Amino acid sequence: MTSYWLSEPSPPRPQAHVDEPEVVVVGGGVTGCAAALRLAEAGKRVRLYDGRGIAEGASGRNGGFALRGMPAAFDVTTESVGDESARAMMAWTERAIDTIESLAGDSFRRVGSLRLAVDEEERHELRTEYEALVAAGFGAEWIETFEPPLEGRFAAALHHPPDGVLQPARWVRRLAALASEAGVEIREHTRVASLDELDGATVVVCTDGYPSGLLGEIEGLIIPTRGQVIATEPVPERLFEVPHYGRHGFDYWHQAEDGRIVAGGFRDVSFDSEFTADEQLTEPVQNALHRFVNDLMGRELRVDFAWAGIFGMVMDFLPVVGRVPGLDNAWVAGGYSGHGNVLGFACGELVATAVLGENEPLLPDFDPVRLLNVD
Ligand SMILES: Cc1cc2nc3c(=O)[nH]c(=O)nc-3n(C[C@H](O)[C@H](O)[C@H](O)COP(=O)(O)OP(=O)(O)OC[C@H]3O[C@@H](n4cnc5c(N)ncnc54)[C@H](O)[C@@H]3O)c2cc1C
Repeated sequence: MTSYWLSEPSPPRPQAHVDEPEVVVVGGGVTGCAAALRLAEAGKRVRLYDGRGIAEGASGRNGGFALRGMPAAFDVTTESVGDESARAMMAWTERAIDTIESLAGDSFRRVGSLRLAVDEEERHELRTEYEALVAAGFGAEWIETFEPPLEGRFAAALHHPPDGVLQPARWVRRLAALASEAGVEIREHTRVASLDELDGATVVVCTDGYPSGLLGEIEGLIIPTRGQVIATEPVPERLFEVPHYGRHGFDYWHQAEDGRIVAGGFRDVSFDSEFTADEQLTEPVQNALHRFVNDLMGRELRVDFAWAGIFGMVMDFLPVVGRVPGLDNAWVAGGYSGHGNVLGFACGELVATAVLGENEPLLPDFDPVRLLNVD
């Protein structure tokens, strides 16, 4: 049940103390740390709480993929929000990857990502996205020939050059250290039970899929969803430098720096039971992951780490950023539908900007109030 990423020791962090915080951030993952850093840099007195340690939610339990764009394909996002907004969102996440690269040091490798098609139907979908990306002026490459072990398994692939791969726990701990240096007081292992205990400070809830109990009318509308991951014994050959994902993202894998194959997904083997906030591992998903990796490698590999985490699903595949409906002085950023490494960072900065009173053109599409209008 240990996340491979979190098994790396956490380096010491400078300690800051804040009297009478103006802003309280709830959640010590990528979103909360990015928001807290931005607010402190703007001169606010900020305190951040997490019921666990920094990065011990989804931010230290994920696949490590750092992907541009929204959770839905670029052409699908274009259909839902229109050309101009979809382009703005894509460019905004590409800029966020640039910022991550400038801050993350050795926790980020900018190697691109490979979105694979398992059959003709998925090939057609990827080709449509590829053409939309190129037409809109974004970098993308179309691939039809593969080397082993991918050869014969996939119909085609879409390479996204701006993407990369993170050691996500190392990255978010680093971001937390930057926030501390900027003056943010971080209180770990302290759960916030109610907004009333925060003495009227502005509150920013950054808990993505983990139920916080702080979101009033929209509590539960960012749907807790479990993802499970394994990391094998180190493998000497380097085969998957780039993050690979196929079957609409239901399978994803890559190779960590020390050679381990990190593979996640297969939620669809027991789809309904994975809509839960319980971090328990389950046999059907774990067996499917192990079988998949053995099949890919053509030999039995030992599984050294297996873990689960919770992410927040939103049915329109757009993040949720803005004021919490019906509450005074409470804001939210979350709901990345399994795509939160880059989007969480970008939305943490975005919600901070909104709290500071700056007008951001992306905010109307992410308005939390829309969750109340969904059947
Ligand atoms: C298995 C898995 C694989 C994934 N793979 C990828 C991937 O490869 N690429 C990608 O982009 N995204 C991926 N994601 C999604 C991504 O990890 C998340 O969207 C992102 O980390 C969310 O970050 P966050 O800071 O918003 O929330 P989290 O990192 O989940 O942090 C929320 C924190 O809030 C705390 N909290 C909740 N309620 C309270 C309270 N009342 N008081 C105090 N603290 C509270 C929790 O303890 C938790 O630590 C994956 C997610 C999972 C679970």
